[in-house]
Amino acid sequence: MIEQDLLRRFLFEELGVRGEWVKLTTSWQAAKQHQRGSENVQQQLGQALAAVVMLSATVKFKGSMILQAQGDGDIKTLVAQATDQRKIRGLVRGKENVTVGSLESMFGHGRLVLTIESQNGHPYQGIVPLHGSNLAAALQTYFEQSEQLKTRLWLFANATHAVGLLLQELPAQENYQADWEHIEILANTVTEQELFDLDCEQLLYRLFHQEKVRLFDPEPVEFSCACSRSNIEKTLFAMGRTELEDILKERDIIEVTCEFCSEHYRFDKVDVENILSQQNAATDSETRH
Ligand SMILES: [Zn+2]
Repeated sequence: MIEQDLLRRFLFEELGVRGEWVKLTTSWQAAKQHQRGSENVQQQLGQALAAVVMLSATVKFKGSMILQAQGDGDIKTLVAQATDQRKIRGLVRGKENVTVGSLESMFGHGRLVLTIESQNGHPYQGIVPLHGSNLAAALQTYFEQSEQLKTRLWLFANATHAVGLLLQELPAQENYQADWEHIEILANTVTEQELFDLDCEQLLYRLFHQEKVRLFDPEPVEFSCACSRSNIEKTLFAMGRTELEDILKERDIIEVTCEFCSEHYRFDKVDVENILSQQNAATDSETRH
């Protein structure tokens, strides 16, 4: 069976190095069908989605991890999100046609922000400049600078697949410098084609067949958008009565389209009045107790 829409984690038990492999197929095609832009633009989104799935599995949390790149160049915004349940979604905004080059040439001046929105616990945020030849390079810099963990990433995407490979030294393994270099040299021979074509076990055998690798059970990844009518109601409520009434003077319906999944949400005058009064009631009762 061909492996697809799976994340696989593995461990070099004797060497203090962990790894991850991801191949997104159906989930990648579902995520990108809601986004505009040429294949070059979409490739950046595919790489970001492969990255965020792997990065979200390197930390324990309940909630979602968001990788966001923002700049003043041809690509303005790129968002890739993965939950702890391996549900992904993403969006990209910018010019239709972008030439693939360094991050600076595509995004201009910008930054890369990694956020964890945890259901219980403090939100976490890390920021790095958008420097380097590609997203993988910028993320490697991020891990070396903020986490002091040697990390290597390979990220590729085409029309049908988004794939990735990650290697990272385990924390507090100072004695493993030579082992890390050994694994890195072996991993450096990996090609884009191999990442697209091979299953995880085939790839690990091809790269590390002399090493002892523990491969964990595959984890399915799927495209799923977290948007909901009630979340949009909260956003509308936050806009306030005056602004909502101004909009409704010009048209009968407030229409909101989710940028991640293209779902349409429609609110007429009665709906808007309900939102404003329900939320008022909720605020009142909170104040009282
Ligand atoms: Zn949505």
